Amino acid sequence: MPKKVVVLGGGVGGTMVANALAKELKKEAEVTIVDEDGKHVYQPGFVYISFGKEKPHKIVKDERKLLRKNVGLVVDKAVKIDKEDRRVQLANGSLDYDYLVLATGAEIHPEEIQGYEDAHHFYDMQASVKLKNALARFNGGKIVVAIGGVPYRCPPAPAESICLLDYYFHKRGIRKKVDLWFMSPLVRIFPLETVDPFVARAMEEKNVNTQTFFNVEYVDPKKKMVHSLEGESIDYDLLILIPPHKGAQVIRDSELGDRGGWILTDRHTLQAENADDLYAIGDATNLPVSKSGAAAHYESPIVVDGIVSDMTGTPPSKKYDGRVTCFCDGGFKKGIMMDFDYEHPPSPPPFSRRAYWKKILFNKLYWWLLPKDRLPGFLMGSVK
Ligand SMILES: Cc1cc2nc3c(=O)[nH]c(=O)nc-3n(C[C@H](O)[C@H](O)[C@H](O)COP(=O)(O)OP(=O)(O)OC[C@H]3O[C@@H](n4cnc5c(N)ncnc54)[C@H](O)[C@@H]3O)c2cc1C
Repeated sequence: MPKKVVVLGGGVGGTMVANALAKELKKEAEVTIVDEDGKHVYQPGFVYISFGKEKPHKIVKDERKLLRKNVGLVVDKAVKIDKEDRRVQLANGSLDYDYLVLATGAEIHPEEIQGYEDAHHFYDMQASVKLKNALARFNGGKIVVAIGGVPYRCPPAPAESICLLDYYFHKRGIRKKVDLWFMSPLVRIFPLETVDPFVARAMEEKNVNTQTFFNVEYVDPKKKMVHSLEGESIDYDLLILIPPHKGAQVIRDSELGDRGGWILTDRHTLQAENADDLYAIGDATNLPVSKSGAAAHYESPIVVDGIVSDMTGTPPSKKYDGRVTCFCDGGFKKGIMMDFDYEHPPSPPPFSRRAYWKKILFNKLYWWLLPKDRLPGFLMGSVK
């Protein structure tokens, strides 16, 4: 009898694992992916939608089209995981499994910040389109970018957004009329210490005002002020506030996560704590790495190796080393590329055209490259 492998979530991690397992275990396993809406969204595109540089239909595809033929797709919502009986309860039925891969990503919870209704963000499609329209109407004043809690997806994205705001208003010829402010919740501007000097210098050159240790507590829409836990406040005309993130509801309801709903995951084997037949990948984990498609990409072969080894009774040959590769678009067609793992912080060169074009190339080729893991080494760089 073939083993039943169920993958929850048809995003980057789930799609890569399902395709790789189905390729490797043609007869030995039945691979089924469960996805809430059957749509696969290329989330880095949200930033470009906000700036009118991308179209919504270009960053969404039917999940079925990205899967190998021998991967089953169930479009349904997983509501509970029963570890003891190895069963996933769905909104409309249930699925038994021998191995379960949790790739349910992250959820946003703007409602957790009082007054959020006056803020914008680019963490889902609807909000990105709304932000694009608000920016198009904006003809001068003060824009504040702030962060409503950590962890959040793609740590460089808020800094990237302020660089792109600078570029966007330059191109509209009204940059001098726009006062840009970047509020970091951390001790520095950029989350990665070794990259911070480049980003801080870039912001200075772009005349972006910056402030550290600003953890948003609430927004006062009437007075158009944001208040921080540290007791400071700033006024705004337009506020971009990264919404608080949590692990998926099904993970929280199944008590597989920490307080934020992030799955307790072994940092090398990617097995969920206390459950050898349960693996976690991507944003859903509590791993100390950036919540990024890149991390999910590097994690996929480890999950596949773990399941195949267990099925064939051989010791696993791969360990996740914390590898991540990410890009930050700095505006004016320059970018920065960061490559790092648990042991090695990134040591990138400063902003360059080369890194920018790599990011753009990757954005264009995503649909062909990622789901079936065809990434060429030159696009990923290396950890030193
Ligand atoms: C604005 C922005 C910019 C970004 N930029 C970058 C970047 O430049 N580089 C980079 O590497 N990463 C970037 N990211 C992050 C990247 O998109 C995510 O880290 C990546 O998508 C994570 O993959 P995942 O498979 O873990 O989760 P996702 O891709 O989010 O997939 C999760 C899937 O699970 C499904 N799901 C959830 N709950 C259930 C349930 N109960 N039942 C069934 N299905 C369920 C969802 O529908 C979804 O399809 C960015 C993200 C954003 C928002």
